[in-house]
Amino acid sequence: MKFQQRLMMVSSAAMLGLVFILLLYSPGVMHVPSGHHATRHRRALSIDYDFDPSQWSASLQNVQCEQNSDFTKLDNATIFTQNLPEKTNYNLYKNNQYKMQHPQVEGNKEMINVIILPHSHVDAGWLQSVEEYYVNHVKGILNNMVKKLNLYKDMTFVWAETVFLSMWWNELEDDVKYQVRRLLQRGQLEIALGGWVMSDEASTHYPSVIDQLMEGQQWVSENLHTKPVNSWAIDPFGHSGTMPYLWKQSGMENMVIQRVHQAIKATLVSQKALEFNWRQNWDFSGTSDILCHVMPYVYYGMQYACGPDKQICAMYDYGKPKSLKEEPTGREITKKNIASQARYLHEQYKKKAGLYKYSTVLVPVGDDFRFDTSQEWDKHYHNYKKVIEYINKQNWNMTIQFGTLKDYFRLLRHEELSKGKDVDGSFPVLKGDFFPYSDQNSEYWTGYFSTRPFHKQLSRDIENNLRSADILSTLAYSECKKHGVDFERHHDVARQLQEVRRNLGLFLHHDAITGTAKPHVVEDYENKLLKAFNLSQDVISITTQNLLTYCEHDDPIILSPERYRRDAYSLPGKYTVAVMKRGTKLIYFNPVAHERTEMVTLVVDSFNIEIKNSQQFNIPFQINPVFKSATNFHESQFEIVFQLEIPAFGFETYTIYQVDRNIYGYWSTVETLNTEPVKNNENMKFKVRNYGDIDRISNIENEFMKASFDKKGVLNRMYDKSSGTFSKVELDFMSYSSEGSGAYIFYPSGKAETLLEKIVPKIRVIKGLFMEQIQVVYKNIYHSMTLFDIASSQGQGLHIENKLDMRAKDMSDHEIIMRINSDVKNVDGSFYTDQNGYQLIGRKTIFNRRIETNYYPVTTMVVLEDSVKRLTLHTKQSHGVASLHQGSVEVMLDRKVMSDDNRGLGEGVFDNRPTISNFILHFERKSSAIPVKNFHFTFPSLVSSVINEGLQQPIQTMFTTVRNDILLSKFHPKNQSIPCDMSVVGLKNLVTSDLVYNGSSLIIHRRKFDCNYLAAGLQCPLSRTNPTLSSLLPNIPITSTRETTLTHLHSKGNVPLDMELSIRPMEMMSFLLDLS
Ligand SMILES: [Zn+2]
Repeated sequence: MKFQQRLMMVSSAAMLGLVFILLLYSPGVMHVPSGHHATRHRRALSIDYDFDPSQWSASLQNVQCEQNSDFTKLDNATIFTQNLPEKTNYNLYKNNQYKMQHPQVEGNKEMINVIILPHSHVDAGWLQSVEEYYVNHVKGILNNMVKKLNLYKDMTFVWAETVFLSMWWNELEDDVKYQVRRLLQRGQLEIALGGWVMSDEASTHYPSVIDQLMEGQQWVSENLHTKPVNSWAIDPFGHSGTMPYLWKQSGMENMVIQRVHQAIKATLVSQKALEFNWRQNWDFSGTSDILCHVMPYVYYGMQYACGPDKQICAMYDYGKPKSLKEEPTGREITKKNIASQARYLHEQYKKKAGLYKYSTVLVPVGDDFRFDTSQEWDKHYHNYKKVIEYINKQNWNMTIQFGTLKDYFRLLRHEELSKGKDVDGSFPVLKGDFFPYSDQNSEYWTGYFSTRPFHKQLSRDIENNLRSADILSTLAYSECKKHGVDFERHHDVARQLQEVRRNLGLFLHHDAITGTAKPHVVEDYENKLLKAFNLSQDVISITTQNLLTYCEHDDPIILSPERYRRDAYSLPGKYTVAVMKRGTKLIYFNPVAHERTEMVTLVVDSFNIEIKNSQQFNIPFQINPVFKSATNFHESQFEIVFQLEIPAFGFETYTIYQVDRNIYGYWSTVETLNTEPVKNNENMKFKVRNYGDIDRISNIENEFMKASFDKKGVLNRMYDKSSGTFSKVELDFMSYSSEGSGAYIFYPSGKAETLLEKIVPKIRVIKGLFMEQIQVVYKNIYHSMTLFDIASSQGQGLHIENKLDMRAKDMSDHEIIMRINSDVKNVDGSFYTDQNGYQLIGRKTIFNRRIETNYYPVTTMVVLEDSVKRLTLHTKQSHGVASLHQGSVEVMLDRKVMSDDNRGLGEGVFDNRPTISNFILHFERKSSAIPVKNFHFTFPSLVSSVINEGLQQPIQTMFTTVRNDILLSKFHPKNQSIPCDMSVVGLKNLVTSDLVYNGSSLIIHRRKFDCNYLAAGLQCPLSRTNPTLSSLLPNIPITSTRETTLTHLHSKGNVPLDMELSIRPMEMMSFLLDLS
């Protein structure tokens, strides 16, 4: 009530004060010389900013650059996955399968221990939505699980997906909950990994992988009183090298994976390396090692799990679901057939044992949505029980039992110990990852890296929002406590954040973000994502308002986020901000722990405006037109561009006023090509030049570079001003025609062909004081490139935005790429892609193999380099990429594939949406020529890391037109940026199932960087000293701090706030803080 009254009543005294301040400061306002177009002396303006660009670090005086030697050495005993293809036979054998040799199994010398592991693979949405699967199958599986495991005390079961457990849990009586916990304590039931879902490993960004893992594991720990120690990821379509690191950091000791290229598996078999210690590329001591078991056969179902003969294995499958047309294959074990049935199985187990170094054999018994009926449990139990007892009584040197992963790995580790490490050492060490994946038919699962890009982009947007909302709610919680006020909205905000987190977590499932679900399931995901987006926006507004009002005013919420999504199938939008005479407030929040100086853009409804920063200085701004049509400017929408400075985790507010005459606004020049002259309204002062359809090269430039565009409006050359060199950089939009492509599989009919051959696009070039931009409008593609004139990292790359619409009929069975051909002379097809945004891994294009076999996933960047320079294409969303020629990199933007690719979906993917994609193209020169030595991995430069961080974590913009005097003009919770090579992965409040505050989670990451590149334009310090928690979070009152495993399940001990945090490069540290 009080607040609403105050909103209406801006005190006249305050107004007078404001006017006075304005007058006071007016003489000091910067002056921009006229004739601004040619002026590149913006920074000579006498703007009284806090920072001094000359102090921005230029050379790398960092401890990391002095201890670089380790990273160049390579260990000969290590298996590098990049070296496996040259040893691999890719020929197909019968039934279009890759061939796997089974080593000759000698007599029965060694005792073979078999663990039969019953499990059920439950997709969190695929052919049915997550709720449909729950009702139709999962509920039955879990209810029967409790009943049958209680009945059959020697039977076991393994479960992975927490999302279903949480749905089920809410329906259970306390008594059943108790029984579930008892099954876990008895070791009959094991929760494997316990992530919210079994996440995809190609298109997911590591902070969100951690987030859904923490959500799942915290739930499991709180409700089931158990802490997972083994990971089980049997269905993701290829496996990333980042996951073993995340799993290990969160307390996993062992892991199981399945979908590895079947021909690569055969190569691993030949080296007895289907079980290995998976080690990170940067690790030379083995601290990141996690024991990984690769299932040997083509699928995880029962037919493929007992041994090489699927006809035999199928005889032991007693529960084919009714929906499948085939007849049940399970053969009942009778007194009459037990001898032969046991012998068959024994033979298969023995053969399977022959593939591995040790004689402990894992036999998963399960498949998709299995064990959902009482009969299926009974039949499996009784039949297996008979065979187990029979074999165990024979003199066959084999013992069999039901078991969990814990049982399997305990036996395996025991065998390893008892045999000593004398025989060829212990498990081999492997570095790398398992992309691309192929199961059979020489078909490659490289299409899904780019399937349904709309949703991949939307989910990244939500991830950014969630991270900001989490940080803000943590700050609000602690700030309110500091002011002795309860953060009244805590409960609501916690509930909203939980929904955002769980909806986003669900979408990380390996049939969701991959784009491989049925259309109605996709709709279900997108409704959940849209809800998550809107809720996250609400939380950002609520918490911001709390923070800017000393926790006094949070009703009504007057802040509106600048971005919106009207529905789950349109491009994201930005509001046109109404500029009021009394002032419209703009609120900016910087979600990264580094200070930033950036050019920001905003669409406003008037050009007669003034912008003032929180110190009441007038801010110069550029005015750009908004096009209403090809030949018309919008008359009530203008894009303004101005420079924003904002500290780490800080807020800045600016106020825009409607004025009679615009003094500090600088009109841009607008050049148009291939279009009728644009009508310039007489009030608008744009300098319009129409070049008609003459063959003209367009340019945009800033103080670092100049980019030239050909008559089709695409980049063809760049000039680096500091070195005075030209580079060839040709961009093209091209299309593959698909021959056998589907949701999962990429199978083009041949090379990509340019889309732009016969197209004459409309081209507009906008040039002004702070940025220059070319906009190119093709039939189905809008493409823009922007250079910001600023000395910070933002100015060092070429910002690319594409909007692609594949809905037109003639786009059917096409897969569209953006290709950049440069003069970077990368050797032997080598390039680098990121893995989940955590690290860069080396790739090698094999030129004599088909295109789709050379595609890899990226989530944040792809890098080409030679001895003198490096091209980095930063991406804001996940894609498939390839480098098919020297100097070339291509990104698949979208695909419209009309046919099914026989992987179970039953249809193609043609529900395309207009989709936005953002990139930054960044060239760097080495300080001196250094040949590329290590093709297995590399690191981004420090500048590149900072550019990428800026792209992934955009500044959050809010505004309010409501009259008010209640908002603080700024809020700077941290006084200093943390060192450049460190980042805060996440800062959030944890809550119990009842939404009670349960500590705050802080994860810090130290990035390794390549020291061979200059570090110009960095605003963060390169300090040699390590930060402490109190320097990281100086204004947050912390009661206690514990260092923990990644997801806080295990404590590593208390940490004093003033203790230096020594984090080794490429490592993360996780803390549980008490702010209550
Ligand atoms: Zn699955």
